[in-house]
Amino acid sequence: MNNTVTIVTGGAQGIGRAISELIAQKGGDIAIFDVIDGSEAKASILSKGRRCEFYKVDVSDLQAVQNAVDSVVKDLGRVDNLVNNAGITIDKLLVRMKEEDWDSVIRINLKSVFNCTKSVIRHMLKTGGSIVNISSIAGVMGNPGQANYAASKAGIIGFTKSIAREYAERAIRVNAIAPGFIRTKMTDSLDEKTKELTLAAVPLKRLGEPEDIANAVYFLLSRYGSYITGEVINVNGGLHM
Ligand code: NAP
Repeated sequence: MNNTVTIVTGGAQGIGRAISELIAQKGGDIAIFDVIDGSEAKASILSKGRRCEFYKVDVSDLQAVQNAVDSVVKDLGRVDNLVNNAGITIDKLLVRMKEEDWDSVIRINLKSVFNCTKSVIRHMLKTGGSIVNISSIAGVMGNPGQANYAASKAGIIGFTKSIAREYAERAIRVNAIAPGFIRTKMTDSLDEKTKELTLAAVPLKRLGEPEDIANAVYFLLSRYGSYITGEVINVNGGLHM
């Protein structure tokens, strides 16, 4: 990862923050795209001796993303890797799910992946690159109450495989990770009963940590993943095999 530049969306907290920290620890520079304040994440990466820039950008807005990617190239000189990690949930049973609940989740979780990938790909055409998209176990298995979220995460898998085929000859690798239940702000709000039931179903008998996902992202981005493209890696403690 030495001296590479990686854009991490949703990189100011949770899984994205852990990904940013690990890549910096391994010698890479980071551009964080997030809607929340990223100054704490930026300071932590700078303290590791790596360059880091934070861009307040809504990844569901194509023009805003294009502007931010242009700024990354201006500020950090290049883009080698992209991690499409930003995402939200608006969980409801279908009968209660409003049109805007569907549209928001598809826009922020799936259209954002189109926006960011389209904006970086032209910078990777000559040099090659690596993209990792954060899907979900819900996109692989489905989950009641998450029709919008599961559809967005399944869409990411189809997108990943298509773009992997489209740009393999340009030495651009595109992969996805499907996390299981990971301890972050996104899952903190779930009730204790759901957490207990999930834990009981995980063969490895623990919930995942953001670092578990960061390790898999690093593996795919780095030279260790150099012969892997179009793949979806489950990182879920065995919850789905
Ligand atoms: P998180 O703690 O909520 O972090 C996600 C970050 O993305 C937040 O800072 C969030 O800001 C930001 N974000 C939301 N909408 C955005 C937008 N339009 N533009 C830019 N940034 C935006 O979530 P996480 O648990 O780390 O999840 C990271 C990814 O892993 C998501 O794609 C999620 O679906 C996926 N995942 C998580 C789990 C899990 O168990 N945690 C399991 C499977 C997959 P706000 O706080 O303002 O929303």
